Amino acid sequence: MFDVIIIGSGISGACIARECAKYQMNTLVLEKNIDVASETTLANSAIIHAGHDPLVGSLKAKFNIIGSRMYEQMSKELDIPYLKNGGMVVATNEEEIDHIKMLYDRGLANGLKKDEIALMEQAKVRQLEPNISDDVLMALYLPTTAITYPMEAAIANLENAMDNGVQLQTDAEVIDIKKNENYFEVYTSDKVYKTKYIINAAGLYAEKISDMVVPNYFKITPRRGEYLVLDKDVHVVSHVIYPVPSKKGKGILATPQYHGNLLLGPTSEFVQFDEMKQTSSKGLNDIKNNIKKSVKNIPFNKVIRTFAGSRPTPSTKDFIIEETMVKGFINVAGIESPGLSAAPAYAEYVVEELLVKNGDFKPNTSFNPIRKRVNRMNELSIDEKNILFKKNHTYGEIICRCEQVTKGEIIDSITRNAGAKTVVGVKHRTRAGAGRCQSGFCQVEVSKILAEYMHIPLENVLYQGKHSNIVKEKTKGETNERI
Ligand SMILES: Cc1cc2nc3c(=O)[nH]c(=O)nc-3n(C[C@H](O)[C@H](O)[C@H](O)COP(=O)(O)OP(=O)(O)OC[C@H]3O[C@@H](n4cnc5c(N)ncnc54)[C@H](O)[C@@H]3O)c2cc1C
Repeated sequence: MFDVIIIGSGISGACIARECAKYQMNTLVLEKNIDVASETTLANSAIIHAGHDPLVGSLKAKFNIIGSRMYEQMSKELDIPYLKNGGMVVATNEEEIDHIKMLYDRGLANGLKKDEIALMEQAKVRQLEPNISDDVLMALYLPTTAITYPMEAAIANLENAMDNGVQLQTDAEVIDIKKNENYFEVYTSDKVYKTKYIINAAGLYAEKISDMVVPNYFKITPRRGEYLVLDKDVHVVSHVIYPVPSKKGKGILATPQYHGNLLLGPTSEFVQFDEMKQTSSKGLNDIKNNIKKSVKNIPFNKVIRTFAGSRPTPSTKDFIIEETMVKGFINVAGIESPGLSAAPAYAEYVVEELLVKNGDFKPNTSFNPIRKRVNRMNELSIDEKNILFKKNHTYGEIICRCEQVTKGEIIDSITRNAGAKTVVGVKHRTRAGAGRCQSGFCQVEVSKILAEYMHIPLENVLYQGKHSNIVKEKTKGETNERI
C-alpha cells in the first residue's frame, strides 16, 4: 500500500514528489510516457515569470509570486539552469501605455516589491535593448524575471525525490481508479496499485483522471503555442521581451534561452488533442509578423527548429488545486501558464496543507536536498576536464560536435535515476542533438550508446515515444559496424 500516488511526471508531479520525499511517505509517481516530463513541461517558453500578469486574488497570482521567489534556491540545490535576465513588457501606443500602468499596479497588488517592478522610459529601454522596435514608447521592467530549462527542472526534482526514496514507474498509464472505504485502487494496463492519497497532476489529461473519481468537475481544452528557435549565434535581445498581453494570453515573446538560442513565440489557439504538438505555416508566420512589433533586426534565416506545446486551459479559468469531495483525491489541474513558475510553491502547499495536515506523516530526517546535474565538459576548465578524463576516458570522446557533448555525459544521463530512455531524452539531458545540425550527425552514435547501456538491441531504441523505433533491422552482415 502506498501513502501517495502522483499521476504525472511534469513539473507539477515532479515538484510534488520532491516535497513528499521530505516526509516519511511511501510515494509512487506513475507516468504514461516512456520518459518523464515529455508533455507540456517539455514545450513552453521556459520563463520564471515575475508575477505581474495573473489576476489579483487568483491561485495563479498567489503561487506565481511565491514560486518565482523559491526558484533560485531550488536551482542551487538541484543544479538546475537558472538565469535572472529580467523582462520587459513593451508598449507601442497610448492604449498600451495605459495597459502597462495597469499591470504595474497589478504586480504590486499581487505582492511584487517596489524594486521588483518599474515603468521604464523609451531612452532607457533602448539603452538596455538596442534592437527594441522603434515603435516602443515605454516598458514595464521586471528585474526578477528569469529563464530555466523546464524539462531539466522536472527531471532534477524527480531525481532528487528518487534519491530520497520516491519510486517512479514510466510507461504506466492510469486507465481506471476505484475508491474503496479507506484506500484507492489505481489501475494501469498490467498492474493495480493501492494508495491512501492520489494527486492528479496529469496536465492535459487531468480532466480524464478526475472524471474517474469525481465526474464532470471541470473541463480541459488544449491551447496550442507554436515556436521558432534561432541559432546560438543570434544575439538580438538579452531580456525576455513581452508585448502587452491580450485576452488570448501573454502574446508573442522574444526569449533568450538558457543555453544561448533565441526563442520566438508562442501563438495561442484552441485545438483538438491530436493537433497539440503540430506546427502550422499560419502559426509560424504569425510569430514572424507579430514579433516585429516589439523587436527589430531578427535574422529569420537563422531558424534551426520549430515546435509546439499545448496549455491545459481549464473551464474554471484558474489553477484547480484542492482536495475534492472524495477524501484523499487531490486535483492539481488546469496548470497552464504560469505553472512552471508556480510549481515549487503549489507543490509545497499540496504536501504541507493537503497531505501532512490530514495524514500522520513524520519528517524524513535523512532527506538530502542536493542533486548534481550531468557533467557538461564544455562548461569545465581545462584542469577540471583533465581530472574527469583521467577518471573516465569516455569523457574524452565527443559524440555531438555542435554542442561538444561527450560519451561520458550521455552514459551518465542514461544510468542515473529518472535517466534517459530515448534519443530525445538524451538530448534534453545533455544537449546532444540540440545544436545547429539538429542531431544529423550524432543520432546514430547516441542510439548505439542507448542500446549498450539499456542492454537492448539497437532495433529497440526509441526516438521519443512508443513505437518510434529508428532502426528496423540490420540490412548487412553482423560484422558491419555501420547502421
Ligand atoms: C506554449 C506554452 C508556453 C508556456 N510558457 C510558460 C512559461 O514561460 N512560464 C511558465 O511558468 N509556464 C509556462 N507554461 C505553462 C507550463 O508549461 C505548464 O503550466 C506546466 O508545464 C504544466 O506542468 P504539469 O506537470 O502540470 O503538466 P505536464 O507537463 O503536461 O505533465 C503531465 C504529465 O502527466 C502524464 N499523464 C497524463 N495522463 C496520464 C495517465 N493517465 N497516467 C499516467 N500519466 C499521465 C503526462 O504524460 C505528463 O507527463 C507554458 C505552457 C505552454 C503550452
